[in-house]
Amino acid sequence: MTRISKMLFAVVASATVAVLAIIELQPSMAQAPAASGVVALTGARIIDGTGRAPIQQGTVIINKGVIEAVGAPAAVKIPNGAARVDLSGKTIIPGLINAHAHLNFDQATKRSVRDDLILRLKTYANYGVTSNVSLGSRPVDELEGLKLRDEQTHITLDRARLYTGGINAVGKTPEEARKSVDRLADLKVDVIKYHINGTPNDMTPDIYGALVDESKKKGLRTFVHIFYTKDAKSAVDKGTDVLAHSIRDKDVDPEFAAELKRKNIGYIPTLTRDLSVFVYETRPAFFDEPFFKRGITLYGSEVEVLINPANQQKVRSDKQAQAIKPALQQANRNLRILSDAGVPIAMGTDSGAEGNPGRWQGYFEHLEMEMMVKAGMTPMQVIVASTGGAARVTKVDPKIGTIEPGKWADLLVLNANPLDDIRNTRQIHSVWVGGNRVTGGN
Ligand SMILES: [Zn+2]
Repeated sequence: MTRISKMLFAVVASATVAVLAIIELQPSMAQAPAASGVVALTGARIIDGTGRAPIQQGTVIINKGVIEAVGAPAAVKIPNGAARVDLSGKTIIPGLINAHAHLNFDQATKRSVRDDLILRLKTYANYGVTSNVSLGSRPVDELEGLKLRDEQTHITLDRARLYTGGINAVGKTPEEARKSVDRLADLKVDVIKYHINGTPNDMTPDIYGALVDESKKKGLRTFVHIFYTKDAKSAVDKGTDVLAHSIRDKDVDPEFAAELKRKNIGYIPTLTRDLSVFVYETRPAFFDEPFFKRGITLYGSEVEVLINPANQQKVRSDKQAQAIKPALQQANRNLRILSDAGVPIAMGTDSGAEGNPGRWQGYFEHLEMEMMVKAGMTPMQVIVASTGGAARVTKVDPKIGTIEPGKWADLLVLNANPLDDIRNTRQIHSVWVGGNRVTGGN
């Protein structure tokens, strides 16, 4: 292109962006609250994410994107001038928190890195997943992720929140591991993630011990990828805060379960990650669910890859993929064992990890919750693990996770009660991020 045509292109492109921005703003402008800026949600069953019994026909007052009051109608005064939204018959739960996400740029798209990451965050939000903790950036998307994270305190946010560990910490020596953490701390990441795969290429305990120690010095919590019991035990010995995958080689023994509880170690089962390794050996039934199609703008190109018979055959004949089937059964058993033992559980999926098609950002979080119930947790336990519990495990933001005064009004409003059936989290009425209705309506 000549210089002038480049300029013209830039002008047209930015005008297009401006028009798109206006179109996207329309729905929220149409529902702009009264002049006071205060919104009162009334009449809904409220499951606040703490594990407490639901409030029936409760009221939530939102002021400047933040929850100001919540409770039974008699206990909460609706301020004069508040815009009232009648949610009778609905159930409000906190926006879901995905404690093990990835926000990776898809190299195959023609979108810019920023547009691609924003589409992903909007898709999460459209499914009611209002916060995501990314446990692994790529060099191409690390800085843009941090930038998006820094922009999310304004109250007209129209996408899910992002917290990020940046690129996973590594090192061939303890010194290198410390330097890797220092670089991430300088970038102001939210958490530190590292891997122990159970292979000879792993960092040795003295190296990841230094990594965890340096993270503590920088005030950062550490999340570890593990598969084997011995690696989980060693990581915990070194002071790691969160196990970011299931233990999948054998039943967790009662002593280790008790140690995890005593040390308040978080546990993120990521069952759907394991499912995604083998489920595309055939066409999964969920491809035809309307709720899955809600994300098709983002999912479409990956679906095309996964329904290809050659791809399906590859999964069927891949020994490693087939070996994950019993590993997932083991993961289910260990989730039950650790939940019953009182270990803090956080919902996470590994959705969005680049190079791993079929980990659906938005849809998988709902499937994960269903699988957690099937593994033996109650719907209430799973809702807590996906909201207030995930906030306590990740500790990325004191303002997310529950419907309590002082928290962001990140809300998932449902047409049916998820305590009756966890699949009712798919009956989405509307999603709110910082008091801003990003999807749905009356
Ligand atoms: Zn991951």
